[in-house]
Amino acid sequence: MSLSSADTQTPIRTDALVIGAGPCGLFQVFELGLLGIKAHIVDSLAHPGGQCTELYPDKPIYDIPALPVCSAQELIDRLLQQIKPFAPEFHLGQEVSEFAQTPAGRFLVRTSAGTTFDAATVVIAAGVGSFQARRIGLEGAQAFEDAHIHYRVRRAADLHDQRLVIFGGGDSALDWTLELATKARSLTLVHRRADFRAVPASVAKMQELASAGRIRCLEALPHSLIVEDGRLRGVNVKAPDAVIHALEADQLLVFFGLHPKLGPVAEWGLALEKKALLVDTEKFQTSLPGVFAVGDINFYPGKKKLILSGFHEAALAAFGIQHHLFPEKKQFLQYTTTSPIMQRRLGVTSS
Ligand code: FAD
Repeated sequence: MSLSSADTQTPIRTDALVIGAGPCGLFQVFELGLLGIKAHIVDSLAHPGGQCTELYPDKPIYDIPALPVCSAQELIDRLLQQIKPFAPEFHLGQEVSEFAQTPAGRFLVRTSAGTTFDAATVVIAAGVGSFQARRIGLEGAQAFEDAHIHYRVRRAADLHDQRLVIFGGGDSALDWTLELATKARSLTLVHRRADFRAVPASVAKMQELASAGRIRCLEALPHSLIVEDGRLRGVNVKAPDAVIHALEADQLLVFFGLHPKLGPVAEWGLALEKKALLVDTEKFQTSLPGVFAVGDINFYPGKKKLILSGFHEAALAAFGIQHHLFPEKKQFLQYTTTSPIMQRRLGVTSS
């Protein structure tokens, strides 16, 4: 097998590549680090944390051992702190899209940004899949994506002095409304209901701007695009009283949140069960030796999609990876409390 021909750069050679920087991917880096194995880690999101950061950062978690309560974001921050000594290299904002095994039994993996890895082992910690922006769902919208309809802001300066319509009621919609209110030629925020999910301070600031006439805020749903001669002129939105408002716009910014998609992982020929990667429970290896799967992405009898389960899986997968890399090496169980070599790796002792 080989990757498609667009190889533009020398692959990054690594002993271990972790796909997914959710809690289980992060802890995988830690367990590998304890065994002296350095990892690269890729995520399609622009930040680590997976579901914890993306879906429920402020919600409390009560079932992490020895942490009676912590917010989901705090858990991620603690994991990031814990893996610091192992200096993993993060490759964020890029989805792993291609995967192939070389005749030598290594793995070539490429991301949407063109980064290519030549990895001896791969750990798939892709959770419920890579997060994709929810689309606006209007006829013809796809043709205007990136040019006039945006699901994330790449260069804010491109939006200055433009007529903007922003859709959404969460933090992204409100943050960009506040950021662009004084820079846009006109700005209308459209949300499907009167309540906003965003932090109250942002909502209050937005309401002040609306009262001062600096922006317009409408309770409505997207209805249809206004297109003339193939050019986007604006968008029609439908208010709760069924009145259609025609909003002239150069650019639409849509922040309807993200939804997970199993995506490319399902197409790599690995055995699947219940839309998850089938693994053994000794090493959490998939049907392809050298490829492991931990966390929500895997399946085995009795599997429970809990962070705690993923942590256990990562510990055993690390031993499986060590054995795959160094089959001759005798494996010893060492305690971080007493192992000088682990403590050196952790940077807590110099001896
Ligand atoms: P995820 O957290 O899903 O992370 C996977 C990462 O992989 C994502 O960042 C994704 O972008 C990335 N990815 C996927 N595919 C690709 C690709 N092709 N290329 C690049 N990156 C990719 N669990 C508990 O134990 N206790 C709780 O109290 C708890 N509360 C929860 C509350 C809510 C509201 C939700 C939604 C879940 C809760 N969970 C809880 C479940 C817990 O969040 C998950 O079990 C955990 O996040 C799984 O971690 P993970 O690392 O396997 O995957």
